Amino acid sequence: MTNLLDASSSGLQTAARILREGGLVAFGTETVYGLGGDATQPKTVARIFEAKNRPRFNPLISHFADAQAAFTQVVANPLAHKLADTFWPGPLTLILPRAPHSTVSDLAADGLPTLAVRVPKGETVQALLKLVQRPIAAPSANRSGRISPSDAAHVLEELDGRIDAVLDSGPCQVGVESTVLDISNPERPTLLRPGGITLEALQAVCGTIFMPETEVDAAPASPGRLLSHYAPHLPVRLNATDVAPDEALLAFGNTQPSEAAISWNLSESGNLEEAAARLFTGLRTLDKQGQSHHLRGIAVQPIPQHGLGLAIQDRLNRAAAPRPALPPEDLPA
Ligand code: AMP
Ligand code: MG
Repeated sequence: MTNLLDASSSGLQTAARILREGGLVAFGTETVYGLGGDATQPKTVARIFEAKNRPRFNPLISHFADAQAAFTQVVANPLAHKLADTFWPGPLTLILPRAPHSTVSDLAADGLPTLAVRVPKGETVQALLKLVQRPIAAPSANRSGRISPSDAAHVLEELDGRIDAVLDSGPCQVGVESTVLDISNPERPTLLRPGGITLEALQAVCGTIFMPETEVDAAPASPGRLLSHYAPHLPVRLNATDVAPDEALLAFGNTQPSEAAISWNLSESGNLEEAAARLFTGLRTLDKQGQSHHLRGIAVQPIPQHGLGLAIQDRLNRAAAPRPALPPEDLPA
């Protein structure tokens, strides 16, 4: 049984106790719900992979209450301090060399010489991390290869019975995951995953941002970039300018084709922040309703390619990518 906790002080105390004792607690951040566990306890980290059915080779992001705590686990350079001052708490994950005395388990870091660290935003998650005072590994709280959850009910749909508790802090505000920026070499800040902090905002602080050479090269370093990811059951058709009667429609803006039997508009006013926040719920809703109406797929209207549009498109590309011939639970995270 998974305990549903509210964000009261007793809910927070219970969540913190479970985490310190090595249990698993899903909690809301500004991006998506994370499946949290103490990153210093390898058994706990293993339980995270197990609960998610996640392939073992994924390194996890460690979460902290503030930059000071985060920088005890990594070797921070001046660029790291500048980025932390600008964007933390917030949806930016920094990859930095692991500190020699880092207490994060090898399993959480996947044996890499680098570590992913982040300070998430939100009253509840901040209060929780302050109480726990440990690095908390927290991949998205969904089964591997499935849509990331943006509220507590989604977490329960995916993980009820597989984790100890869900701390309910309401729906997430950003709705897509954090931007992952590798600054282990500060001369070459490299964008490993687009996300809640835009490329333009990073460029304003860092100057040039490098991209990994190819998707293939990036895959081992950042498995979140694996092509088939965030996969709904129904096939996804991108950049659709029309919709067939047997397709569900994921719309954007106010030029929605009227033929669609089932549709979800990411943002009628064309606002990319609203669209990001509604993305995973929209995919999940259309996938569920589409299946029950025996539709053949989900058509997605074009998304503008600037700001958060890049992160939204990245998730949609993965949702649309050809699936490996494996049962859904075995898809890579
Ligand atoms: P998630 O756990 O779903 O939020 O995804 C975490 C993302 O961070 C994945 O894309 C990981 O591959 C990436 N990541 C975590 N640690 C590292 C690391 N040390 N080097 C490169 N990428 C990392
Ligand atoms: Mg994920």
